[in-house]
Amino acid sequence: MNLTAESHRIPLSDGNSIPLLGLGTYADPQKTPKGSCLEAVKIAIDAGYRHIDGAFVYFNEHEVGQAIREKIAEGKIKREDIFYCGKLWNTCHPPELVRPTLEKTLKILQLDYVDLYIIELPMAFKPGDALYPKDENGKFIYHETDLCATWEALEACKDAGLAKSIGVSNFNRRQLEMIMNKPGLKYKPVSNQVECHPYFTQPKLLEFCRQHDIVIVGYSPLGTSRDESWVNVSSPPLLKDPVLNAIGKKYNKTAAQIALRFNVQRGVAVIPKSFNPQRIRENFQIFDFSLTEKEMKEIEALNKNVRYVELLM
Ligand code: NAP
Repeated sequence: MNLTAESHRIPLSDGNSIPLLGLGTYADPQKTPKGSCLEAVKIAIDAGYRHIDGAFVYFNEHEVGQAIREKIAEGKIKREDIFYCGKLWNTCHPPELVRPTLEKTLKILQLDYVDLYIIELPMAFKPGDALYPKDENGKFIYHETDLCATWEALEACKDAGLAKSIGVSNFNRRQLEMIMNKPGLKYKPVSNQVECHPYFTQPKLLEFCRQHDIVIVGYSPLGTSRDESWVNVSSPPLLKDPVLNAIGKKYNKTAAQIALRFNVQRGVAVIPKSFNPQRIRENFQIFDFSLTEKEMKEIEALNKNVRYVELLM
């Protein structure tokens, strides 16, 4: 794939397209100073990013929206230049909650539409104010849900113009097939956002999604922030990997840039999170070199089939 900074978009099955590189915006709200996300998104837009990945449960969507609106007001970008992905949380799966939930997100963002709206996880929690509802034994309270009915509600949001495209996240093949084989399906998922990086390359899911024209968006493409509260840190740090570092040396690039380039070069979109100005810019500098076929194979061989994000829920 010949990728340049200008042409780094990938077509979606509904006629829209997604920038291969986006800025992830999840940061622990307890440990992250207010305004960090706002600054990061503005720096990213100045650096050339046009794709921002966010979610209601990241608690900083208002900062993302403000950054986008400020950059539009400055004349740096137009709304249509930006690709924002928002997510439907587990407590909002009942179909009657889907549109109001997206409308709430749009109100927080102060935008008229999101470019992509995805079901964040394939399982539902009990609806209500608690985002992580638990019983007296500390166990999550799940909710009987029909994913196909949730999907139909997303289709209605697309028809209403509130989301330009609709997709899913953390879906396995069986769950994707369930949606795609749904009687009366109007739109199939354009993308599936899943963990994907050199230590977890997702060969089978990637092949399945390729066959069905579903773009994989790789989250934690740098191997996460290694926050022990939700990351399996027994798997070694990706960016210390000797192969990634050796290949980086050859191109005068960092292990992070090699890990990102590996994915975009095989058609996987990546959404590295950084709120650090230098690293935000560094992560964007992956369109001025390409890996050889041999290097791509070497990196593929690093796959350990171990997730950093175990999603124990
Ligand atoms: P990640 O992007 O793999 O890694 C982020 C960590 O790497 C941060 O600690 C960041 O710190 C650091 N970093 C960034 N650039 C770097 C560089 N060039 N060199 C060294 N370190 C660097 O992890 P992630 O946040 O887990 O995943 C990315 C995004 O995917 C999230 O923010 C979120 O938007 C999305 N996501 C979605 C799901 C889902 O279920 N759908 C799950 C997880 C994540 P600094 O900020 O200090 O640079």
